Amino acid sequence: MSSSVIDFIATEARFGARNYEPIGVVLSRGEGVWVWDTQGNRYLDCLSAYSAVSQGHCHPKILAAMVEQAHRLTLTSRAFHNDQLALFYEEIAALTGSHKVLPMNSGAEAVESAIKSVRKWGYEVKGVKDGQAEIIVCANNFHGRTLGVVGFSTDPETRGHFGPFAPGFKIIPFGDAAALAEAINPNTVAFLVEPIQGEAGVVIPPAGYFTEVRELCTANNVMLVLDEIQTGLGRTGKLLAEQHEGIEADVTLLGKALSGGFYPVSAVLSNNDVLGTLRPGQHGSTFGGNPLACAVARAAMRVLVEEGMIENAARQGERFLSGLKDIRANTIREVRGRGLMLAVELHPEAGRARRYCEALQAKGILAKDTHEHTIRIAPPLVITSDQVDWALERFAAILTQDFS
Ligand SMILES: *Cc1c(COP(=O)(O)O)cnc(C)c1O
Repeated sequence: MSSSVIDFIATEARFGARNYEPIGVVLSRGEGVWVWDTQGNRYLDCLSAYSAVSQGHCHPKILAAMVEQAHRLTLTSRAFHNDQLALFYEEIAALTGSHKVLPMNSGAEAVESAIKSVRKWGYEVKGVKDGQAEIIVCANNFHGRTLGVVGFSTDPETRGHFGPFAPGFKIIPFGDAAALAEAINPNTVAFLVEPIQGEAGVVIPPAGYFTEVRELCTANNVMLVLDEIQTGLGRTGKLLAEQHEGIEADVTLLGKALSGGFYPVSAVLSNNDVLGTLRPGQHGSTFGGNPLACAVARAAMRVLVEEGMIENAARQGERFLSGLKDIRANTIREVRGRGLMLAVELHPEAGRARRYCEALQAKGILAKDTHEHTIRIAPPLVITSDQVDWALERFAAILTQDFS
């Protein structure tokens, strides 16, 4: 096989832009929570492609839907109707209780589309003077990598030397409702926020934060845009993370697990007339809403519900979290999480999280460091109790070592 003659890692490094620094493992196969490298070593996937593979690798029903659709029709563009889009709309609206849907591809595109839509809503419905719309976002946000989006990032790595950036964004601290109250003015059209900040290291806001946020947005006619691209579709143990606070966003963004990892599919969902301001020719995407994407997403949503993955995420998330909290190791500063969106923050003196992830790899677990000292843990939502316990044994073994 070519795997023995091609050095995949060196070849990637030679030809590829070096915008990633992957852990040194070359994967060639996946099934459920497991992935295998080119040598046949098996690993428990504790990243799930940043929560895109929530349904487990190569889920047979999503695979079947994809293959079946690929034989029939893959792309029409939105210049014509196709027989999958309406069914996708109907099913995602029923699942999430939304009224309108805008299908896109990547998560960042969904974010961009939401920004365009709430600005348009601001001018045409709220009555903001043209060019004056403001959107409030949070420090340490992650909403993707497009220019519009990195322009309001606060991470120097993410935005450095990519400017100039678009104006119209105001940054406030995450989890601070008083800061939101202070930042809102008559030109504010939206507050764009993650229910739990994933890339920032699984940062969970104080209880009651989103109840206050919801009230402030309603009182000031500001659209609450929840970026649930990572937290949505069962990851936190509920269909949407907003349900933990009993609130409803005006605009919800989904991506990642919307296709179970088979294909880039994202969506902007709205409960009001935000998406209604878009008229023919004003926004679009060649691939957005294509029949292959729709068929894959329909199957991905169906298995999530039919196979009880959301309830399983809640149950196994609790088991994983309490198991991590039981590990007695002075390398650990804090363990936090909701559902199967978990993180172990190390003491700065314990050394870089990357070293722990490499040690975990040697024990058959793939996890990803984020922000120097945090190990992020997000296995597929199909993980079993035995597999959680298997992982916990290995986390305990690694976290009690000192890599400083
Ligand atoms: C991953 C992610 C995005 C961007 O999605 P892409 O598909 O990588 O463009 C946006 N927001 C959040 C919260 C994410 O986790």
